[in-house]
Amino acid sequence: MMRPRKADNREYTLMIVPHQGQSVISMKIPIKVIKGMAVALSILILFFMGAFANYRHTINTASAEKAELESLRQTNGMQHQQIEQIAKETAVLQEDLRRLNQLDNDVRRMMSMEEQPEASRSGTVRPNGAFNGQGGPTIKPGIDNLANLVREMQANAKERESSLEDLRVRIIDRNARAAAMPSIWPASGDVTSRFGWRSSPWGWGSDWHPGIDIANDYGTPITATADGRVMFADWYGGYGKLIQIDHGNGIVTLYGHNSTMLVSPGQQVRKGDIIAEMGSTGASTGSHCHYEVQVNGTAVNPASFL
Ligand SMILES: [Zn+2]
Repeated sequence: MMRPRKADNREYTLMIVPHQGQSVISMKIPIKVIKGMAVALSILILFFMGAFANYRHTINTASAEKAELESLRQTNGMQHQQIEQIAKETAVLQEDLRRLNQLDNDVRRMMSMEEQPEASRSGTVRPNGAFNGQGGPTIKPGIDNLANLVREMQANAKERESSLEDLRVRIIDRNARAAAMPSIWPASGDVTSRFGWRSSPWGWGSDWHPGIDIANDYGTPITATADGRVMFADWYGGYGKLIQIDHGNGIVTLYGHNSTMLVSPGQQVRKGDIIAEMGSTGASTGSHCHYEVQVNGTAVNPASFL
């Protein structure tokens, strides 16, 4: 059971004493009024404290955002610099690729090839040509432009790679064909008998000479005139000790009258390898090498290959 609250009817007396001798002002303030004022003051203080806290929070948030913005601005600036650097390097790479393209064209022209792949047929670009026209709008390089450029260069490099690979295969093939061509002399010495009709060395009229005779000292080295495989190395009638080499493509070379044979059938030889020593075996009047070139079984003039 609640007891009814007694009304507080106390009063406080407020006295104001002036400095000089004027009369003292006194007033009576009821306790209720003082209490009400205290409550109002408390509410006011609480309100201002809240407002201040809110203000501080807002200020803090704003400065944090400002710092974040500043850091973003710095990052952005750095990224811009990096993009420009990449753009410069990309331009250098582009120039490298153009030179590579030019080199590819030059090598092909030097090899006097008729057919050229699609990429090489496009306009040639000279790094320092006679024309100097240039222009176009100056646009700051963007990531999109750079990505496109890089893709373009990747495609270009791929084309160049397949073009160069094609060239490599062709050069290997050409070198192999050149190596298999009997294009050098089999021995040093004097040509004592040419290819074709000649007066017989035996003194009876004329005969058909299917090769070239090269005379030199007994034992002079005889070399293979092209890459190939030894198909015969043995005595063969008037040829004496004969070596026969197959060079492929129907081309065969013969080296007769040797004193010593240094290779055996089945052996692979390279152009310039020593295969025998000069002699006078078989039908021969002195130390010499009978050198013969056959194409599809027919003797041809060896001089046409030299
Ligand atoms: Zn001969």
